[in-house]
Amino acid sequence: MAHPERVGVIGGSGFYRLVDDVEHVVVDTPYGPPSAPIALGEVEGRAVAFLARHGTGHELPPHQVNYRANLWALRALGVRRVLGPCAAGSLQSHIHPGDFVVCDQLVDRTWGRAGTFFDGPETNHLAFADPYCPCLRQALVAAGRDRGVSVVDGGTVVVVPGPRFSTRAESRWHRAQGWDVVNMTQSPEAALARELGLCYATVALVTDYDTGVEDLEETGAAQEAGSHGAVSQEAVSQEAVSQEAVFAFFQENLDRLRQVLFTASASVSSQAGADCACAASGFPLS
Ligand SMILES: [Zn+2]
Repeated sequence: MAHPERVGVIGGSGFYRLVDDVEHVVVDTPYGPPSAPIALGEVEGRAVAFLARHGTGHELPPHQVNYRANLWALRALGVRRVLGPCAAGSLQSHIHPGDFVVCDQLVDRTWGRAGTFFDGPETNHLAFADPYCPCLRQALVAAGRDRGVSVVDGGTVVVVPGPRFSTRAESRWHRAQGWDVVNMTQSPEAALARELGLCYATVALVTDYDTGVEDLEETGAAQEAGSHGAVSQEAVSQEAVSQEAVFAFFQENLDRLRQVLFTASASVSSQAGADCACAASGFPLS
């Protein structure tokens, strides 16, 4: 069942199926079961393994996802390269709903999640300066452009615990740091992939403007009011982010995302991680 060329895809909220013709396999791990059975199939000649990050019925909120089991299970099936698309909110007025941000940096603001395989006694302090695989990033950017979607090459995702969305003050702070998108699942997923020696990259499908950003876009207010804590009138008048709107937008864009993943999965077949160091710092592959 293990397949050395298989590409893993971890689908986020609203993304429960990659292709139809699949074999579902149940995998157990030392960390318990992954979020769902893993769907093995083929995309444009490439073997793929698809896993629904939140379960097939979205029963697992971001802080309840067993990230360690998910990554472990994929590796047990022979996966060495993982694409982990996610939904995200835009923190900057130049990043719009519908954009595909191929992130190159990550800020972790989550807490309390099982975020490492190194629980002792053996410890390995891995390099994580560049959290995303450059080869997979390149493949995603090229695939997005090939498919004609609006691609943002590079960007910082700040990962929040959720499941609630940000307050206006939190969102304003995230923007002020220059971070680009906000999400709830990229940590610890990206770090765990690195620990296992897996290549990992994400494409963040922007579903909405985070609280307050839309008004900056509409009013052209480049400078945010209230830098000392006051909330601008524009921000006060803006509607808060809603789960219904985010999920609905994601569904509308799911086909485009699927096409990008098809192309990226097929194109990484010849790369085989040759130009990156992702595997070098991870677990010994067996
Ligand atoms: Zn890599």
